[in-house]
Amino acid sequence: MRVTFFSAKPYDREFFDRLNADVGFELMYYETHLGPHIVNAVENSAAICAFVNDKLDAGVLRVLAEKGVKYIALRCAGFNNLDLEAAKQYGMRVCRVPAYSPEAVAEHALAMILTLNRKTHKAYNRVREQNFALNGLMGFNIHGKTVGIVGTGNIGQAFARIMSGFGCTLLATDIRENDELKALGVRYVPLQHLLAQSDVISLHCPLLESTKHLINEASLQQMKPGVMIINTSRGGLIDTPAVIAGLRTKRIGSLGIDVYEQEEKLFFRDLSHTILNDDTIQLLMSFPNVLVTGHQAFFTEEALEQIARTTLSSLSRLEQGQAPENPAALLV
Ligand code: NAD
Repeated sequence: MRVTFFSAKPYDREFFDRLNADVGFELMYYETHLGPHIVNAVENSAAICAFVNDKLDAGVLRVLAEKGVKYIALRCAGFNNLDLEAAKQYGMRVCRVPAYSPEAVAEHALAMILTLNRKTHKAYNRVREQNFALNGLMGFNIHGKTVGIVGTGNIGQAFARIMSGFGCTLLATDIRENDELKALGVRYVPLQHLLAQSDVISLHCPLLESTKHLINEASLQQMKPGVMIINTSRGGLIDTPAVIAGLRTKRIGSLGIDVYEQEEKLFFRDLSHTILNDDTIQLLMSFPNVLVTGHQAFFTEEALEQIARTTLSSLSRLEQGQAPENPAALLV
């Protein structure tokens, strides 16, 4: 079976080519993202493998279905970029990688917290210029602080375990409560309570209609002044103009984002020789208390290996008329 990849980078090819040795698919890679501009290039391919910023709306899925595509494999956990109803209508099977090294993302959230708090990125540059002064580098002890976790699925759980090791009070909100986390000391509270009590808020819920712009002007008003907000989930969870206003009024003490609502045109590319056509991210990056990373929370060797292994296994099983090994991998 031919599998056509979109948004494929050299590191994707490395892991997929290696693990495909056991499966024997014909893998075809496009570096461009999937969208109306390229969908007609798909030929003789029963399967598509797509990533977070590939656009799989009804129009694109219709063309893919006409071209005989039967399987869509998302090599990521989130699936907000795919129209599930349309996929169902066109009789396609869609799978994803529900849990690939949740620790990778949880550890990146921690890296953002520690960097923003202890300003190691600034200290690194300072000492290189023989400036050993400490002014402006003061942080706070994470021990004893209240950390609010929005969404305690795979990643939120891993994050809760890490933060419990720091000796934090842990609050969480989720539509499903996790008994193991409760035993660890996590207290489930309504979102409003979490927003009002937390010194650090970390977002780990999916982007849905109900979670879009969860962080907005009104929710910011409920937070402690000086709160740290971390988003490694999806950019759309945050209303960016509201957050910029919150940074200006100092309601937000620091912000770490690995995802950005308009990231499609920016992330996963080297744009160092161009002038960015996005004033909002330029403004965000100019704040000294904002840390932006380009959707790299998942980017560990372990995660990439697991993504490739799970994706190839699910496609192979779907081709043989079987469900993926993990039921949560099958979306349609
Ligand atoms: P998951 O499905 O295991 O967990 C999501 C949790 O959010 C579930 O427990 C769900 O009940 C909960 N939830 C749903 N609606 C909610 C709401 N309104 N309020 C609070 N909780 C709610 O997913 P996961 O594997 O933990 O991943 C979480 C998100 O992380 C994904 O949706 C994806 O967008 C993002 N992600 C980002 C990266 C990255 O590299 N930055 C990598 C992987 C995943």
